[in-house]
Amino acid sequence: MLRDCIELTQYVPGKSIEEVRKKYGLKRIVKLASNENPYGPSPKAINALRSFLDLHIYPDPSYSELRERLSEYTGWEEDRIVVSTGIDGILETIFSLLIDKGDEVLIPVPTFPYYHILTRLRCGREVLVKRGRNFRIDESVLNFITKKTKIVIVCSPNNPTGNTESEEVVRAIAESTDGLVFVDEAYIEFSDSKMDIDAENVVIARTFSKAFGLANLRIGYARLPDWLLEPFRAASTPFPVSTPAERAAIAALDDVKWMQECVERIRFERERVYRELKGMVEVHPSQANFLFFRSPLDNLAEELLKKGVIVRDCRNFVGCDRHIRVTVGKPEDNDMFLEAVKEVLGVDSTDRHPGNGENSSS
Ligand code: PMP
Repeated sequence: MLRDCIELTQYVPGKSIEEVRKKYGLKRIVKLASNENPYGPSPKAINALRSFLDLHIYPDPSYSELRERLSEYTGWEEDRIVVSTGIDGILETIFSLLIDKGDEVLIPVPTFPYYHILTRLRCGREVLVKRGRNFRIDESVLNFITKKTKIVIVCSPNNPTGNTESEEVVRAIAESTDGLVFVDEAYIEFSDSKMDIDAENVVIARTFSKAFGLANLRIGYARLPDWLLEPFRAASTPFPVSTPAERAAIAALDDVKWMQECVERIRFERERVYRELKGMVEVHPSQANFLFFRSPLDNLAEELLKKGVIVRDCRNFVGCDRHIRVTVGKPEDNDMFLEAVKEVLGVDSTDRHPGNGENSSS
């Protein structure tokens, strides 16, 4: 019954606290595997969610209030903003509009797994490009662009490596292809990046799932070029965001200060965890709310699980070998993670050399 070109690999989400509790019978478990904001959303967002009870009424399909507020927040033109069920929903609609059998999707790896899944689901052809120094996409990516290139993925900051991309290279990509450059900025609030490329073939997508702490409400948004607006609306599911979610997102935008304070704490902890890890493993600078490091052991993720720390083993990310991604949590959660790494690796605090003053974000 399935379309014959479909070759699927299921998205592997982070293990849940309950799963780990059952398996290892532990009391304290910290989940640092899904890049969530450990402080949660603004209390204003929670109140907005609680106070909406007209659940029998369909949402406003134009999402005009949210789009107006997003325009103020991003500086993007309101008419060009679309909302969907997370960035996942934006991606799904764009892939369904653009990708036919055999069309090429250029994916610098390793990166967020859903791009691979969507390409396969649409029977497209994945063109995997190895990243350059510090995992950045370099000019060599231009050699992979062909007439069949329909989408080029630029995830900045990139999941799982944490680096941002060079605006110059992304511009060069946009100028070299007739395909669409999809810039995924899920983690932009945690970074110093100021990339803003507006062109006929560039989409920028963002989310309320990360810095705004609303992952469970599934709200993403994007700025599209004019020609893509109507097709996008036609292909999108009619009510991708519920009204309680829309209200919560608006309330979160009323309290950007909350989000900024969370980001500040997370960035501060990111630097601390980076410095601590640097003495033990090969860890990479990050502009997101997670750190990426090479695992000195084959089974480090499993050993950390036994100690109640859930991290993401990146071995099932395409183009990634023995690496681990750990979300930056609250200070006490990060301490538990660092302690567990120390114990598993048998590192004595006196053995460790405390880095060289370099920042994670450098
Ligand atoms: N893009 C990237 C790079 C991500 O890491 C994630 C979530 N892990 C998403 C998109 C999906 O985000 P959303 O919750 O907005 O669908």
